[in-house]
Amino acid sequence: MDVLVLNCGSSSLKYQLLNMETETLLVKGLCERIGIDGQLKHDRGDKVYEAALPMPDHEAAVKIVLDALLNPEHGVIKSMDEITAVGHRVVHGGEHFTDSVLITDDVERIIEECSALAPLHNPPNLTGIRACKHIMPAVPQVAVFDTAFHAGMPAKAYLYAIPYEYYEEHKIRKYGFHGTSHKYVSMRAAEILGKPYKELKIITCHLGNGASVCAIDGGRSVDTSMGLTPLEGLIMGTRSGDIDPVLVTFIMQKENKTAQETLDILNKKSGVLGISGVSSDFRDIGQAASEGCERAQAALDAYCYRVARYIGSYITAMNGADAIVFTAGVGENSIQTREEICKYLTCFGAEADSEKNNSRGAEVDFSKDHAKVRTLVIPTNEELVIARDTKQLIKK
Ligand code: AMP
Repeated sequence: MDVLVLNCGSSSLKYQLLNMETETLLVKGLCERIGIDGQLKHDRGDKVYEAALPMPDHEAAVKIVLDALLNPEHGVIKSMDEITAVGHRVVHGGEHFTDSVLITDDVERIIEECSALAPLHNPPNLTGIRACKHIMPAVPQVAVFDTAFHAGMPAKAYLYAIPYEYYEEHKIRKYGFHGTSHKYVSMRAAEILGKPYKELKIITCHLGNGASVCAIDGGRSVDTSMGLTPLEGLIMGTRSGDIDPVLVTFIMQKENKTAQETLDILNKKSGVLGISGVSSDFRDIGQAASEGCERAQAALDAYCYRVARYIGSYITAMNGADAIVFTAGVGENSIQTREEICKYLTCFGAEADSEKNNSRGAEVDFSKDHAKVRTLVIPTNEELVIARDTKQLIKK
């Protein structure tokens, strides 16, 4: 059984084809510059095929992906019939979707309604779904939501302290994101620790360009740092994370900006980029800091401090923690960031072993042998979670 996993952004489409009997990756690729010109990168492991191909819209991009999968030279399948199902990453499922679902007309309509909560993400996700329905009408499509893993959070964690009618009327509440990643790495942590998932308290730190922390008690997300939108919580590459909301009107007045322009600044020009003035990429910021750039160092310090504060608060939320997991671009690769964050956590019994921590992009338990709270790096695999959910739903 082969499952095609699609992740559609506004001008991009990431894909993977996985054999779900063996859970092996057959091919992965990326279409970029959709609606502009079009660029395909198709990576089979043994060979990479790259081509500039016209992609006026997502439907054209999906057709190009299918052609690449079927291509006699760099493809991996002989017939479209080999694709049993398509799993789509959908960012926002609102309060409707507490788990992955088989896509029907009703599901599509609700995803469209949720676009109000994720205007940058849900519309391109939906475009990908519609393109696949059109091109492969007989192939079942499944939606896997970034928000679903957090759907069981208690009200005390998801309610904002604003008039309750806004929650009732407009569904303003914390939703949380990166759910497939938090789910994957926490389940994997339980396997590595050799303990039942249901008996563990785990804090997962998805530290990529976007970043969030999640408290997982007995396999259930009980709190997470992103909110109504992915802007809340940690300092990120270009997002501010938590701020005093009054900053919005203050910046509007002082800088003569509209509300939308101010939100764009908080989403795209803030975070470690905003503080450092150097870059949103931790490699550039680390380099600048090592050359004496004070703002770069300030950005790294503020970033680690915020992550550590969230971890501390989630240890309180769960009244303990067995493990802290680092994942995504920064979490998997930045040795220094992990080291700095862990320095704040010795009071809880988490102690990093510098030698074991000296590794990038690989699974490792880098705790000191006697540490009470285990600290681990686990590379995330959101596509595998999407493919697993897709397989499970179509089997039903
Ligand atoms: P992601 O969103 O998970 O793809 O993470 C992307 C981010 O990971 C980049 O913007 C970098 O800040 C960070 N990153 C990737 N590789 C490294 C590395 N070797 N060292 C430090 N940071 C890295």
